[in-house]
Amino acid sequence: MIDPLTISKIFDSIDIIDVVSDFVHLKRRGANYLGLCPFHNEKTPSFTVSPAKGIFKCFGCGKGGNAVNFIMEHEHLSYPEALKYLAKKYGIEIEERELSEEEKKLSTEKDSLLIVSEYASNFFTEQLFQTDEGVEIGLSYFRERGFNEKVIKDFKLGYSPEKRDALTQSALNKGYKLEFLEKTGL
Ligand SMILES: [Zn+2]
Repeated sequence: MIDPLTISKIFDSIDIIDVVSDFVHLKRRGANYLGLCPFHNEKTPSFTVSPAKGIFKCFGCGKGGNAVNFIMEHEHLSYPEALKYLAKKYGIEIEERELSEEEKKLSTEKDSLLIVSEYASNFFTEQLFQTDEGVEIGLSYFRERGFNEKVIKDFKLGYSPEKRDALTQSALNKGYKLEFLEKTGL
């Protein structure tokens, strides 16, 4: 695995605007930067990057995360591969060491749980904005309660479909393990 000290060096060097700008043409809008989302087709930019928070978020397709997540998603890389990519970009030498079996098991499990949670959060956002049921029931409910779109998105509100196992089914179809879905309480 990559040495934790190297990982923190990488995180210290990351400038998310710089990382994303290699792939997306960004324009400054107040405190944030805006561009056309590289993860879905759009003509009006809804892909937002916050340099202060070090995160990106697309209000069209719901994808979001930090610079490492961006590289993972965009370049189809695993977490360690994305870290290596960024290390190379910033001229940081990678120090690796072998993990013990126990450490391996723990770190795989932790990664899987994080990935599953992220998946679920995106799933509910997608359901809210991109399905008829989500828009008709979820979105109109939030609007009646006086939440505007900005609040809904800032607080990552989502819609859980009537079909109770919709998330589980969708996650299983994507190859996520039931074990991890259960462990995150989903
Ligand atoms: Zn998008």
